Amino acid sequence: MPELPEAEITKRKLAPLIKKTIVSFSCDWPRGLRVVRSTRDINRDIRGRRVRGIRRHGKVIFLDLGERIIAFHQRMSGRLEIPPRSTKPTKHVHHILTFSDGSALWFHDPRKFGVVWYGKPEEVKKEPYHRTLGSDGLAITLSDFKARLREHRGMIKPLLLRQDVVAGIGNITADETLWEARIHPKRHVHTLKDADLNRLFRAMKNVLDLGIRAEGSTLRDWAHPDGESGKFQEYLKVYGRGGEKCPRSPTPIKRMVVGGRGTWICSKCQRL
Ligand SMILES: [Zn+2]
Repeated sequence: MPELPEAEITKRKLAPLIKKTIVSFSCDWPRGLRVVRSTRDINRDIRGRRVRGIRRHGKVIFLDLGERIIAFHQRMSGRLEIPPRSTKPTKHVHHILTFSDGSALWFHDPRKFGVVWYGKPEEVKKEPYHRTLGSDGLAITLSDFKARLREHRGMIKPLLLRQDVVAGIGNITADETLWEARIHPKRHVHTLKDADLNRLFRAMKNVLDLGIRAEGSTLRDWAHPDGESGKFQEYLKVYGRGGEKCPRSPTPIKRMVVGGRGTWICSKCQRL
């Protein structure tokens, strides 16, 4: 599932869309639409609007259209793509924006979990997902990070995955962050000392930074909007590496389930 680094790379590579004028919107999966939920209504309303800017918060990408916003969450298997001219969309392309110069933006989503919000900026902001979103993982400060975590009880990994605590963290970032900080994913947050949280914060920033420098991870469906692949998977220390040796200690990496999610740890570096 695309996380913050993948969303960031997507945002950067969508920059060629800035200043383009939209001529149409089409969709064969209206269940993925939020705020305005009718393809016809969106198509009628969006025509002639210009892309003023593109931003990202957590895993969501926003195209600023002035009086309107269109936002995309790639979720499990989604991928935003600027297709080469004159290619035909496959059956997995469920949402299409076309521009006056003939170019397009496709939302490719084989599992159809992706979400598209379209509406006035204030309407989109009021949506439950956006209303509760925490500070973005790249922007969050140490004091905000600690305060958000200390508002809660329970195991640290599920908390890191909550988008209302820190926006953008997913399973890969969480496992890599906890390994780097030498914290067991089942540690309860109230047992973590100030120094542990400082270490956790620095580890999260490092993992996000490395993820972005490696241009995200292409494990299954996700790729860049121009079709290129990310390389972050080559740098992962524990995620998906069950049975391989921990790079810090000669201990095999173990897979376990924490809060319903597959989790990889080094049981020597990360003690409960
Ligand atoms: Zn280790």
